[in-house]
Amino acid sequence: MTIDFLSHLNPSQRRAVEHFCGPLLVVAGAGSGKTRALTYRIANLILQHRVDPENILAVTFTNKAAREMKERIQKLFAEQLAIAEFGERFDLLPEYDQVRLKSRVWRSYIKELWCGTFHSLFSRILRFDIEKYQDEKGRRWNRNFSIFDESDAQSLVKEIVTKQLNLDDKKFEPRSVRYAISNAKNKGLSPHDYEREQPNYRGRVIAEVYSKYQDRLAENNALDFDDLILVPVKLFQQNEQVLGYWYRKFRHILVDEYQDTNRTQYDLIRLLVTHGETNKNNWDWRDRSVFVVGDADQSIYSFRMADFTILLEFQQDFGDGLPDEDTRTMVKLEENYRSCENILQAANQLIENNTQRIDKVLRATRGAGEQIYFFKADDEIAEAEFVINQIRKLERENPELNWGSFAILYRTNAQSRPFEDLLVRAQIPYTVVGGLKFYDRKEIKDVLAYLRAITNPADTVSLLRVINTPRRGIGKATIDNLVGAAQELGTTLWEILSDQTSVNTLAGRSAKSVNNFAAMISRWQAELATMPASDILQGILEDSGYVQDLMSQGTDEAEDRVQNVQELFNAVRQFEEENEEVSLGDFLASAALSSDLDNLKEGQAAVSLMTLHASKGLEFPVVYMVGLEQGLFPNYRSMNDPSALEEERRLCYVGITRAQERLFISHARERRLYGNREPAVRSQFLEELPEELLVTHRPGRMAYAKSASGSIPQRETKARQSVTENWQVGDRVLHKIFGEGEITHVFGSGRKISVAIKFDQLGQKIIDPQVAQLQRV
Ligand code: ATP
Ligand code: MG
Repeated sequence: MTIDFLSHLNPSQRRAVEHFCGPLLVVAGAGSGKTRALTYRIANLILQHRVDPENILAVTFTNKAAREMKERIQKLFAEQLAIAEFGERFDLLPEYDQVRLKSRVWRSYIKELWCGTFHSLFSRILRFDIEKYQDEKGRRWNRNFSIFDESDAQSLVKEIVTKQLNLDDKKFEPRSVRYAISNAKNKGLSPHDYEREQPNYRGRVIAEVYSKYQDRLAENNALDFDDLILVPVKLFQQNEQVLGYWYRKFRHILVDEYQDTNRTQYDLIRLLVTHGETNKNNWDWRDRSVFVVGDADQSIYSFRMADFTILLEFQQDFGDGLPDEDTRTMVKLEENYRSCENILQAANQLIENNTQRIDKVLRATRGAGEQIYFFKADDEIAEAEFVINQIRKLERENPELNWGSFAILYRTNAQSRPFEDLLVRAQIPYTVVGGLKFYDRKEIKDVLAYLRAITNPADTVSLLRVINTPRRGIGKATIDNLVGAAQELGTTLWEILSDQTSVNTLAGRSAKSVNNFAAMISRWQAELATMPASDILQGILEDSGYVQDLMSQGTDEAEDRVQNVQELFNAVRQFEEENEEVSLGDFLASAALSSDLDNLKEGQAAVSLMTLHASKGLEFPVVYMVGLEQGLFPNYRSMNDPSALEEERRLCYVGITRAQERLFISHARERRLYGNREPAVRSQFLEELPEELLVTHRPGRMAYAKSASGSIPQRETKARQSVTENWQVGDRVLHKIFGEGEITHVFGSGRKISVAIKFDQLGQKIIDPQVAQLQRV
């Protein structure tokens, strides 16, 4: 049988795909067909080299990517597999039987193929073998172990810090303690090892928390995410038989997005490839391979300990040291098949601003395409309006585009809200990739439940959602009592709750908490008629302790939730501005419509919304990258940290390179933060893009349709003032609107300068001195 699918590849890809045994690294920029090469390689191993699918281990970065890879392989190769299985008889079968056979053969194959994320693949291995593992204290787990997610792990740490060890959680912030434990695990350190490495007081305390944390995991027959990688490493090191089994099974190992691998993940790959043998000369490369693909410029997960030096060291680690090693163990791909030339050039030029990188070639294979459109919006709502109008227009005017052709990429989850609101209003189907829609997020549902309970006390579902959220010591038995009584009497739960005597009778020791809760709801009910909705929201958020509770958790996830709650507050403010005399009830009705309008049918094309992190590996004909503002993207925390700033730039590179035909970039001049309008400074990344490729959109003047590319509007003339002042940290300045303040940070230099000022009255803001016209005082 001829294997003609290899003709879909260029010569370098083909070399990577056809390479059979031994190590091979594919390094290349975005959109150069790395994932395609990996997918075709799996098919080639099966079809050409007759490798049994059960001997292949393919690691992808997300579960979705794994599913897609299986689908792609199926689409390409189900027929070839069926022919390979049934020979010439296959062609003689009626079409109906061919289809059935194809899917039967395919199913039997795909079942055997181990394709997934590190976490999913190795938790599967642990389901087989964890009973053979014991930790340094001799503890064991059984195969029904639970997996504690990050928020479970953090609550466990918090409980140990505050309840079990009675420590001050200001000094031993649960988030930072959990981070230290996670780091230790990623370095393979036990609590004892950790204490030896950090013999000071803090180190000793963290080691103790770590040790108790491990006790609790073991008591619960549970593992955390780090364990899903670390435990297999230890198990393989402990038990030669177990390692031997998996070593013999997985003869061909493939890893996508290798630049985002961390050290323990690397250890796993290395153990499986080398059987734990350290001497390179003893490695057996007969019938075995390790194939990794990656791009150091797309490494964006260092906060999860990803380390792209692992990619750079691949050849040294796995190569066999022969003189022609370079060509034998590495393939570079230099053609980009995804993006039009203008988009690619912008990406290439941006990433050149990073110092920590290796230069590489990435040539366009497609035409120049349109210029990149840049839009400066008055505020975040105008930005969302621009994007949604564009999408509608482009979809209407270009028959080859459908809703699935568009993606909106942003830096933080909370930014999705204005886009979602407008998409709902325009009745455009959309999905949030790798996350929940705004109104489906837990914290939004919690806060809306408070508001519903206030406006409509008969809403028992909402009352029950918040009666003990955040925890106020009202247990399940008490709640059952109260609900039971209401049912008996045929009244609402609220009637019981709002009567102190009934509560005192029914709620036992938690009566006080229940009465306080009811009094709080009543208090805000009394304000409904006179107080604006946003004030009620703010009041109940403070009174209930909901935000306070989130903030005290101190986790990244909790911080994300706080941002979402603040965004809900922005939504209420926006609603009040856009409509006259609105009540809280009106807002809730509009929010309910937003969440209810889930008009997405299975398989229907939809606009994709996602964070830049979630967009890795994906591609879309039209991409909108929004919110390019200093402090947002790049984010505030990276602005004083050069290597964090480089990671933000890599994230920007990932964003740009998702676009195939069109790229739109936007920022707002003002953005609502905590309900107030704050001036925003455009992102320094915009200054790093080639000016000649950017055109500024002016409403009413831009040509949208592809065919109308001749009438591109003129470039924005930069009416910027030159920098006349040499701003320094410590300078006292006067701003027209914000008053007096002191410069605390200076970012960038020359034309790209921005400064952070701590205003005496209004707190810290980042400002572009060229626009703001500061005066020294
Ligand atoms: P990323 O770095 O973003 O993960 P990648 O290097 O994995 O990108 P792919 O997603 O594999 O790139 O490929 C990008 C696009 O180019 C896909 O649409 C793919 O089908 C197409 N492509 C890859 N190789 C070729 C080729 N030889 N001929 C035509 N199209 C190709
Ligand atoms: Mg890829």
